[in-house]
Amino acid sequence: MKLRDTHNRIAKYLRIGITDRCNLRCRYCMPAVGIDFAHRDDILSYEEIIRLSKIFACLGVDKVRLTGGEPFVRKDIAVLLRSLSDVFSKVHITTNATLLSGHFELLKEIKVEGLNISIDSLDRDRFFMITRRDSYDIVMENILKCLENKIPAKLNIVVMKGVNDMELLDFVRFGIQHNIEVRFIEAMPFNDDDGNRNVYMPATEIAALIAGEFQSLHKLNADGSSSDKYTIDGNYTLGIIPAYSRSLCSSCDRIRLTPQGELLNCLYAQTGTSLLSMVRGDKVTDNDIQQAIIDSVLLKKKSGFEEEALINKDAFRSMTTIGG
Ligand code: SAM
Ligand code: SF4
Repeated sequence: MKLRDTHNRIAKYLRIGITDRCNLRCRYCMPAVGIDFAHRDDILSYEEIIRLSKIFACLGVDKVRLTGGEPFVRKDIAVLLRSLSDVFSKVHITTNATLLSGHFELLKEIKVEGLNISIDSLDRDRFFMITRRDSYDIVMENILKCLENKIPAKLNIVVMKGVNDMELLDFVRFGIQHNIEVRFIEAMPFNDDDGNRNVYMPATEIAALIAGEFQSLHKLNADGSSSDKYTIDGNYTLGIIPAYSRSLCSSCDRIRLTPQGELLNCLYAQTGTSLLSMVRGDKVTDNDIQQAIIDSVLLKKKSGFEEEALINKDAFRSMTTIGG
């Protein structure tokens, strides 16, 4: 069975936000004081996540990504990761890497297919300014340990004009030196009240800036992933993610499950289908949940712009509640 939407896209990739809590306070993601975090009882338990995951797998989903908030702040994540690696053939995680120490063996054991590490600056002071926490050293140490342990890692950099765009070339050099893919993400101006306006730099401008220094920058044909891929000298690959310009919606294969068990069809969707109430319902069967997922995917809009048009602009929804 496949999760096909009305625009003929098939959802095969599930992103699960396992918590909305985080030990950093990245300016583009959360206000300094944090957000109104969900009560623990309102968050999907591991048992509930695993039950839902098995239903998604029956519907053809073969790739999962754990995200958050910071997934590694959640207790006993090893239990969840081991179970999910039995359900899905491809397990990925997005993390700020502050809490990775002690998890390298686990990541090898579950054969994690991809670990995306967020780091928005290679400069300790700027890292602190962006994340509001002094965690640069541990993040860098853990990135280097991932490389040592041959964990397939990539670096995610949210590009902010006037904040860290002067470091883009340094990131590319770092990527080439350590043979690690860097992925530049367009900043989505969601956290308006916190200095995230006016920092947007479009993917085209990011590519032009890199091409100014690396003349062999060459755009590859679309491969259906969420990033535009480029090569330098034909052998180093980097990505640019048009998260805000949304030029890749037509091949989107993603669906999202929030920490509070809401199934969202799109990063820009403000409401979805509550699977939490279903999974906790007395007489709700797996078949009922399966049908609710199918119905939900059928409502997926053609593009993130159509979803955004429905957003109440006064209601700020932090990425930490959606999972990025
Ligand atoms: N805490 C983990 C981390 O930072 O990698 C996982 C959760 S975070 C919400 C997932 C991704 O969303 C990160 O790569 C983060 O940089 C990105 N993100 C958060 N807010 C964003 C925004 N306003 N614009 C673009 N990307 C954003
Ligand atoms: Fe935390 Fe990730 Fe949001 Fe930064 S981007 S505050 S690390 S959830």
